[in-house]
Amino acid sequence: MIRRLGDGRVTVNPFIPPTPPTRSTLYSWWCASAHPLVDARLRELHSDCANTVAVARPVCLASGKCCHFGAHGHILAVTGLEALWTWREAGRSLSPHAAVTARNAATCPFLDGTHCSIHSARPTGCRTYFCDRGDGRWQSVLSEKLHSAIIDLHNQHAIPYLYAEWTWLVEHIAHAHATGVLSEPLES
Ligand code: SF4
Repeated sequence: MIRRLGDGRVTVNPFIPPTPPTRSTLYSWWCASAHPLVDARLRELHSDCANTVAVARPVCLASGKCCHFGAHGHILAVTGLEALWTWREAGRSLSPHAAVTARNAATCPFLDGTHCSIHSARPTGCRTYFCDRGDGRWQSVLSEKLHSAIIDLHNQHAIPYLYAEWTWLVEHIAHAHATGVLSEPLES
């Protein structure tokens, strides 16, 4: 999938899957996101992440720049499980139209001015990325460690795994929410 950066350069986004998640997969993520062990583990990982960030002390001016993905040249990728956990934890719905508009603008739909409107529920990728990268190594190590732990979580609970671009996932989740998929029983 081709994407255009803010400076006009064109690049390939490797995190746009060729096909959307099925209704069954979306519902599986939705159910798994509420599982007490899954929920507890994600919160534990977020807490570990906060501890590491507190030691590294990157400068964050809360400018919101990194949430304008196109202009900033940043790709935020998350797992489907985490995307649904964030959706549930944020307790907010987003219309499909708003999700599509934000995606077309290459901006996070949850950015409110320069602030994250779902800060306590934001996905791991938002917790590990800082414009102030220093030598960048600690962020890469932290990201990989958390991603590996989330893959383990998928494996432990037999959760379908997909790692994809955030606004692409949010668009499909918003549509699933609007069409009742997240409240449907799984088809047998
Ligand atoms: S969820 Fe919040 S921190 Fe993450 S990209 Fe969106 S607005 Fe920014």
